[in-house]
Amino acid sequence: MQKTIGYAAHDHHSPLVPFRFERRDPMPTDVQIEILFCGVCHSDLHQVRNEWGGSVFPIVPGHEIVGRVAAIGSAVTDFKLGELVGVGCLVDSCGTCPDCHDHQEQFCDAATFTYNTPDPHTGRMTYGGYSNRIVVDQRFVLHISDSLDPAAAAPLLCAGITTYSPLRHWQIGPNDKVGIVGLGGLGHMAVKFARAFGAHVVLFTTSASKIEDAKRLGAHEVVVSKDSEAMGKQRASFDFILNTVAASHNLDDYTALLKRDGTLCLVGVPDHAHPSPSAANLIFKRRRIAGSLIGGLKETQEMLDFCAQHHITADIEIIPIQQINQAYERMLKSDVKYRFVIDLASLKRDAESG
Ligand code: NAP
Ligand code: ZN
Repeated sequence: MQKTIGYAAHDHHSPLVPFRFERRDPMPTDVQIEILFCGVCHSDLHQVRNEWGGSVFPIVPGHEIVGRVAAIGSAVTDFKLGELVGVGCLVDSCGTCPDCHDHQEQFCDAATFTYNTPDPHTGRMTYGGYSNRIVVDQRFVLHISDSLDPAAAAPLLCAGITTYSPLRHWQIGPNDKVGIVGLGGLGHMAVKFARAFGAHVVLFTTSASKIEDAKRLGAHEVVVSKDSEAMGKQRASFDFILNTVAASHNLDDYTALLKRDGTLCLVGVPDHAHPSPSAANLIFKRRRIAGSLIGGLKETQEMLDFCAQHHITADIEIIPIQQINQAYERMLKSDVKYRFVIDLASLKRDAESG
């Protein structure tokens, strides 16, 4: 077994603290990764606080993992020792159902998520990337170009693919007017991708202080969503709106902005349900509300390669792991530009102090 140290929450109201546990030894198809950086997703916070229900404690969060290959199983041919690799939200799936067959492993009923899921190999819960190493089946390990900054690439593994995938699925391109709601970890990646795909990009934010930043990141227009006059000017003009907000709010404000046949796609997963949307708002222009979940492994690799080609990474603030609890408080106040990334070298302090 591989002795591992990470940070865990032991219940839904206590801070994360150092936690020692064991990873499985690499099996023939496994890759063992020494973790360099791990992004801090709002989903980590939702699950640490058990806001979605179903959290099993202790919980070691983290699904935006970048590291180097430290060992490989005897049947691994696609990865080399020392190579820069990534792991996102998934570490296993059945491999045989229609979703897996179609490279949509995120929808597999037997998908194993990187943390807080029973691991079919050990029977214990999976533990995520707020830790110094991880052992993952090669099918769920991604190649990361050395041309990308490894810390700024970490958020691509969740925030990146979660926004890239719906923009690709709805075939966003130069003739589209696209809205992005919320300028956080997901939202700022969505602005970058929608711009890179050639769309006209409008960012909706509750934070007037983010207007200039949003433009720097690629938004053509920025609308403060509390300004009802500015919202009114955008009525019935959008082909597609991607909503990344992590809290319950009135979706009618955004369905009203869609053109005929336009789509509002939800990726934010608030702890309290949104108020029911107005049926008339949908019916009169045949508008749709849809959802999207991360992306499959093939598309995640495609996204990482696209980012290497187009020099796209996240805007990040690097923190030592000892600051994770303060980082959560700041994330709740939308006080992050635009993703915290943990430097796992900081874990040595806890390892040395016994
Ligand atoms: P984040 O960095 O905290 O960003 C969320 C943004 O939402 C904030 O920056 C803020 O932007 C806006 N917001 C407006 N009102 C808010 C409020 N009352 N509370 C919180 N945020 C508010 O979060 P994230 O990591 O991007 O994640 C966003 C959501 O997506 C979370 O619910 C997360 O669990 C979910 N998620 C879903 C998937 C998926 O596969 N579907 C994957 C990853 C994450 P402004 O300041 O610009 O208004
Ligand atoms: Zn995430």
